[in-house]
Amino acid sequence: MSLKREINTIHRVGVHTSIAGGISKAADRAASLNCSTMQIFSHNPRQWKHSAFDEGEAKRFKILREKYNIHPVFVHVSYLINLATCSESMLSKSIDLLCYELRNADMIGAEYVVLHTGSARGRDERDARKRAVSALLRAFKSVRSTSALVLENTAGEKGDITSSIKALGEIIDNCQSDRIAGICVDTCHAFSAGYDLRGVEGVEGLLTEIKDYAGFDKLKLIHLNDSKRPLGSGIDRHEHIGKGYIGLKGFKNILNDKILSKVPIILETPKNDEDDDRKNLGKVFRILNHG
Ligand SMILES: [Zn+2]
Ligand SMILES: [Zn+2]
Repeated sequence: MSLKREINTIHRVGVHTSIAGGISKAADRAASLNCSTMQIFSHNPRQWKHSAFDEGEAKRFKILREKYNIHPVFVHVSYLINLATCSESMLSKSIDLLCYELRNADMIGAEYVVLHTGSARGRDERDARKRAVSALLRAFKSVRSTSALVLENTAGEKGDITSSIKALGEIIDNCQSDRIAGICVDTCHAFSAGYDLRGVEGVEGLLTEIKDYAGFDKLKLIHLNDSKRPLGSGIDRHEHIGKGYIGLKGFKNILNDKILSKVPIILETPKNDEDDDRKNLGKVFRILNHG
């Protein structure tokens, strides 16, 4: 087998995919873009309203993702969930919604559920992380699932409690639960939170933190996104690969790294044009194949 083909089979690359028309349609969409992994929202992520997947559709999805060899499948949870809140009503709504996400992910055989843990909203961040830990344990008690959580780093917006790898590691250590499989590193969020991924040193710095605070075996997913905002802006605005402040050189450094190149990649880049996903995936495949 040529080196190029070998690299292609090692890499798992996909995009965040719409479930419009039913969950099985999402598998078809991903396959039509040559994705070998994928991510979905199980409902509108900006609304509390939700309902379980249709059973027939869930079955069709499972058959199709096997047929297309899409693996693993990630479900990204709603943005409304805040497990660090001080408000008991907000907390119980958040835990209920997380339980629903875990159940739905189980129904379609998704391996992982990606979570933004929450915001301290002006309160002490360490205490907020402690609240998030007990909220996670409450959710794990009330729902059994084989789909495991991965905690995503956030962009460092005001109140964010997980904008560093150290903070993610702290939550995982304090949970001591096998229901948390590990972490997702979003490149746009990391860059906005101050990790300079434009050069090799910045990428190595991030890797050192992953090794020290989580462990490489815990790195389950990379959200590969460029950033519309400069380094350390604390603002979460995704850009097309190579068109933002991280730039093509930065993505070459990230994708040519021996450790990062073994981790599944999901793009959450803008979808203004029908062809945007194809273009962004094309750039990633070119770098993976040609360096
Ligand atoms: Zn992300
Ligand atoms: Zn984001």
